[in-house]
Amino acid sequence: MDTLAKALAYDKQIRIYACVTTELVAEAQKRHGLWPSSSAALGRTMTASLLTAVLKEENVTVKINGGGPIKDIVVEATKYGTVRGYVGDPYQFYQYNDSGKINVSYAVGTDGLLEVKTLINNEVFTSSSPLQTGEIADDFTYYFASSEQIPSSVGLGVLVNDDNTILASGGFIIQVLPNCSDEVITELENKLKNIKEVSTMVKDGYTPEDIIKELVGENNYELLDSNMPLKWYCRCSKDNFRRGLKMLKVSDLEDLIKDESIETVCNFCNTKYIFTKDELVEILNEKQNNKQ
Ligand code: ZN
Repeated sequence: MDTLAKALAYDKQIRIYACVTTELVAEAQKRHGLWPSSSAALGRTMTASLLTAVLKEENVTVKINGGGPIKDIVVEATKYGTVRGYVGDPYQFYQYNDSGKINVSYAVGTDGLLEVKTLINNEVFTSSSPLQTGEIADDFTYYFASSEQIPSSVGLGVLVNDDNTILASGGFIIQVLPNCSDEVITELENKLKNIKEVSTMVKDGYTPEDIIKELVGENNYELLDSNMPLKWYCRCSKDNFRRGLKMLKVSDLEDLIKDESIETVCNFCNTKYIFTKDELVEILNEKQNNKQ
């Protein structure tokens, strides 16, 4: 099961959240038939969005468009630990020549913004920052530093099997709290230079708490929550799409009724919902009756 752990470290000078997201990224890979660069880009964004939503205690919608071939990345994550998302082009796969590692930066691009939307008291708040490397983790690190004014370090990683299924996925965020001393910051920076990649930790069976231990050391943290469940979840339904159709103009609905049936598709989960001519006529009638 995918989970998230929360901790304070270095005598409450540092906040760390870490998570394992292999299953939820695997679900997204299966739903969209993602190729490795698309899996890595979406998986890292889903992981970072969950960390962001749980940290902010707000539901977030994250959008990244760096002008690369993958086009838009869109992810919705809730403060309760559910997440869904999609990319503009699921079939992207590039590798770095020297290491053979999946190239995410090229697929995502760097000419654009990382945008985070939150809904607070029915009002939408948007904050954003320019993309740095298109590798996602650096982009979130920069987002927290520039837009939220919290010095942070974000680590994210997704490993993909030869058959495109997901081997491991996880991530962490370290945030420096206002009372933090320079010595602690320097010590952490040095530690971060020498740690294993987070995807390797997950592949080796690390739990979120193990990741925290690896980052700050055995007896250096106070665990706040070790086992928050994380889950892929799409809240779409035929009823949702029905409401959407009902909001169309009468003339557009009349155009749709010319066909025997229409098919609507949820971008987030690829579920198809069919509306027959009869159902469309019913929607049109309801709309016209409501008006009178
Ligand atoms: Zn859906």
